[in-house]
Amino acid sequence: MANKTGEYVWHNGKFIHWNDAKIHIMSHVIHYGSSVFEGIRVYDTHLGPAVFRLKDHMKRLINSAKMYRMELNWNADEFCKVSIDTVRKNKFGACYIRPVVFRGYGGFGVNPFNNPVETYIATWEWGKYLGEGALENGVDVCVSSWKRFAPDTLPALAKSGANYMNSQLIKMEAIINGYVEGIALENHGFISEGSGENIFLIRRGVVLTPPLSSSILPGITRNTVIQICKDLGYEVREVMIPRETLYTAEEVFFTGTAAEITPIRSVDKIQVGAGKRGPITEELQNKFFGIFTGEYKAKEGWLTPVE
Ligand code: PMP
Repeated sequence: MANKTGEYVWHNGKFIHWNDAKIHIMSHVIHYGSSVFEGIRVYDTHLGPAVFRLKDHMKRLINSAKMYRMELNWNADEFCKVSIDTVRKNKFGACYIRPVVFRGYGGFGVNPFNNPVETYIATWEWGKYLGEGALENGVDVCVSSWKRFAPDTLPALAKSGANYMNSQLIKMEAIINGYVEGIALENHGFISEGSGENIFLIRRGVVLTPPLSSSILPGITRNTVIQICKDLGYEVREVMIPRETLYTAEEVFFTGTAAEITPIRSVDKIQVGAGKRGPITEELQNKFFGIFTGEYKAKEGWLTPVE
């Protein structure tokens, strides 16, 4: 997938050229995974280019940094402003925004307190995450042999770089075995999430999704879908879900900033429902994408126009 990158990157309060956004190999983050980040989308909307749930992403970034005792010099509103500035500076419409905060160059040991906290915001144009046609046709996935980390190991609620070593194991195993994505179970064997997506199941017309205690990232798309479901009158249950429910559910889908709402048509080569996008998934997709056309009324703070 070719990425059209922005020309400028925001770094600790200043714009620098994309090619100058470099770090030393002895930076703490390279060795010890000490970063937290966000993934945010700008959509072309009826209001012009607009960022989806910008402040919620920035609040999650701040919370992730807090869990890792990283001190930030910007609050959520300031991060929102400079993100918009970065999109504008790069003359982007629809694009992806990647704020990243990490421990930089200083001490070489594990103790991170001697390393400065560096903050960057990069932007680029990104296509469909799980492949062309995924939103319409659904994807074939597997249950991973890799579990999500137990609650007392790494904080799943933080979007930290280190967590994505686990995601990479899940993703690589899935790809090598011919699947698009893998679903991880949590420590006790209940469903957790995909390598970069939350998961939902429809069973007897009820919408099920694992709770925050199932080692998931508190997805912003997940929260959006829950709100849309409630608006539409669906019962939503955030409950621990046994793995085998994946095979017997009427519909299963992923949610995420990159994946949006992607139907799952098979799990471990067992067909889910009719083996194609289900009616509730499609209805939720229509409402979700309706946020960007104005057909579905966005909630307060969901769309921040770039202009
Ligand atoms: N879980 C994981 C592990 C992720 O990486 C992501 C993507 N950020 C999600 C869930 C979905 O979160 P969001 O809807 O906020 O993008």
